[in-house]
Amino acid sequence: MTDKLNWDELDFSYTEVPYRWRAYWKDGEWYKAGLETDPQLPIREAAPIVNYGQGVFEGNKAYGTKDGKVVLFRPDEFGERLNRGARRMAMPEVPVEEFVRACKEVVKANRDYVPPYGHNGAAMFIRPMLLGVGDHIQVSAAEEYLFTIYVSPVGPLYKGGLVPHNYIIDHEHDRVAADGTGNIKATANYASTLATAKKIRESGYDDVLYLDPATHTKIDEFSSANFFAIEKDTNKFVTPKSDTVLPSITKKSLLWLAENRLGLEVEEGDIKVDEFDKYAEAGAMGNAAIISPAASVTYKDDRHVFYSETEVGPVSKALYKELTAIQFGEVEAPEGWIVDV
Ligand code: PLP
Repeated sequence: MTDKLNWDELDFSYTEVPYRWRAYWKDGEWYKAGLETDPQLPIREAAPIVNYGQGVFEGNKAYGTKDGKVVLFRPDEFGERLNRGARRMAMPEVPVEEFVRACKEVVKANRDYVPPYGHNGAAMFIRPMLLGVGDHIQVSAAEEYLFTIYVSPVGPLYKGGLVPHNYIIDHEHDRVAADGTGNIKATANYASTLATAKKIRESGYDDVLYLDPATHTKIDEFSSANFFAIEKDTNKFVTPKSDTVLPSITKKSLLWLAENRLGLEVEEGDIKVDEFDKYAEAGAMGNAAIISPAASVTYKDDRHVFYSETEVGPVSKALYKELTAIQFGEVEAPEGWIVDV
């Protein structure tokens, strides 16, 4: 079946593979953890995830490296973020070592579907989900939970890989509430972005940016990636400091790499929507987005072009290269970032 997959042609879409991981929680403990083959989830119609969105999830990847291994990138960080979400959503935690073991097992079981090294950044997407299940009609936390992970080989999030993209700010809607769940990966955070995403893609934009919900004066983030900008003259790497953005593991990694490997100044601070002129480059960063540079960001009637509409800026390019070289085993990773499957 894998002979049908053309690794170079993969885009960011779902391919069914033979195995998924599931574990079940009831009466205070996890049980029946292991591989399963049915892609259909065992979920009842009265489950809180279906009725009330009691769920958190993750999105990490396994990479086929230059020397033929399969590795995970900072899986413990993804497990810890899932658990921060679990606490906020009144759900039981998945011990981080179990989370990492489950990621490894499900990738190993589907080894033939991990894109080999050297195919336009193709990798195996890993989607862990923690869901409130069981029959529970009241608006209150579930009494049963399902932890499940599916995987799928994927290519780049946006067509064309490392090329500039056109983004637009949704100035009519907020992604999340000011003191809401923006800083965890709650399933419900994504529902509110879908209508705008559909509309803007029909108008030729690649993705939507959201402003901070309290003042609407600063950039917060995209619906599924953080935002960065590179200051003119200094090349300072700046990314929004905000309680309403998801603490991206790609961002955390790029802040470190920018400072320690590229020798750049870094800052988590405000990026005001009326101060785009301060920046030479900008873009999206995330596990799926990797680094997706901005050709332009449109805000109301103003279309601001950053580095170029056709070329990728040198700092974005260098950051992309450093991060992906670590993930695909081309250069040495900082300690603990890369875990063999
Ligand atoms: N912001 C949001 C809202 C996301 O959904 C994601 C993806 O998980 C990110 C940012 C990027 O986070 P990470 O780099 O950990 O994938």
